[in-house]
Amino acid sequence: MNQETGKLYIVATPIGNLGDITFRAIETLKIVDLIAAEDTRHVKMLLQHYGISNKVIALHQHNEDKAALEIVEKLRAGLSIALVSDAGTPLISDPGMPVVKAVHEANLPVVPIVGACALIAALSAAGVAITPFTFEGFTPRTSSARQAFFAERAGIPTTWVFYESCHRILDCLHDMTAVLSAERSIVIARELTKLHETIVKLPLTDMLALVENDANMRKGEFVVIVEGAAKIDVSENTITLEQERILKLLLTECSVKKAVELAVEITGGKKKVLYQAALAISNANQTS
Ligand code: SAM
Repeated sequence: MNQETGKLYIVATPIGNLGDITFRAIETLKIVDLIAAEDTRHVKMLLQHYGISNKVIALHQHNEDKAALEIVEKLRAGLSIALVSDAGTPLISDPGMPVVKAVHEANLPVVPIVGACALIAALSAAGVAITPFTFEGFTPRTSSARQAFFAERAGIPTTWVFYESCHRILDCLHDMTAVLSAERSIVIARELTKLHETIVKLPLTDMLALVENDANMRKGEFVVIVEGAAKIDVSENTITLEQERILKLLLTECSVKKAVELAVEITGGKKKVLYQAALAISNANQTS
C-alpha cells in the first residue's frame, strides 16, 4: 500500500462545449485512482469522449456525508481521487461541500483543477461592473419567495448573479418586474459555449418582453446578472434609485414616518438619510 496520503482533486469539466477542458484536467482524470461524480453515467460519457477509462463512484446530495468519510479513508490509504460534477466547477451550485470540508478537517490536500464555470463566463462577457459581485446560486422556487428575495436585494448597489432554469426564467422575470424598477439593467447569458449561446443586456421591461415574445429565449440554461442599484444624491446624502422608488410608492399610502420605517425594513440603509429623502419627495409632491 502507498505510504503517502493521496490528494483530492476538484476538477472542472465543460459547461457545454467539450473543448473547454484543460490538459491538466484530462491528465488528472487519467491518473487518479478513482473519480467521484455527481452522475456516474454522465461522467462516463465525458470520459469516453476524451478516451479515459477510470473507476467512477457516485457522489450525490443524498450520500455526501457517508461518501465524505469513505473518501477521507481512501485518501489516508494513499489513493488519489478526482471530484467532478455534471458540468463546470464542482461545488458551484453543485454537490461536494461535505467532502471538501471533511478532507480539510482531516488535514489532507485539496487541489483545484480550474476550468469552466457558468457564472464566471457570463460575468466576463456581460459588460457590467464586476468588483464586487454577489453570487446567489438558484433563486427560490415559488413566486412569492422569489419576489421577497428580489425585494431584499433591490437596493444593493453592486452586481448580483444567479442561476435560473428554462422552466422558471419567464416567471422569474415577471417577479423581478414586480419588485425592481423597469430600467434596471439585466444581462441574460444563455447556453454559454453552446451552439445557441446568447448574451443580451437590456433594461428589465425590455428583457421581459424579449423573453415573453421569443420562445428560443426560454430554452436552455441561464445565468442572470442584475446590475446594482444606481445612486442619486438627495440633500447631500445618497440613496439608491430603488430606495427612492420604494419611498415614493410608500408615500402614496403612508405618512413620512411610516414610509421611512418600512423603507428601512425593505431596503436597509440609514434611517436619517431615507427620512431626508422622504421629506424631499413629500414636499415635492405637495408643491406639484
Ligand atoms: N457547477 C456549474 C458551474 O460551474 O457553473 C453550475 C452547476 S448548476 C447545477 C447548473 C446551472 O448553471 C444551470 O441551471 C444554469 O443556470 C447554469 N449553467 C450551467 N451551464 C450553463 C451554460 N452553458 N450556459 C448558461 N448557464 C449555465
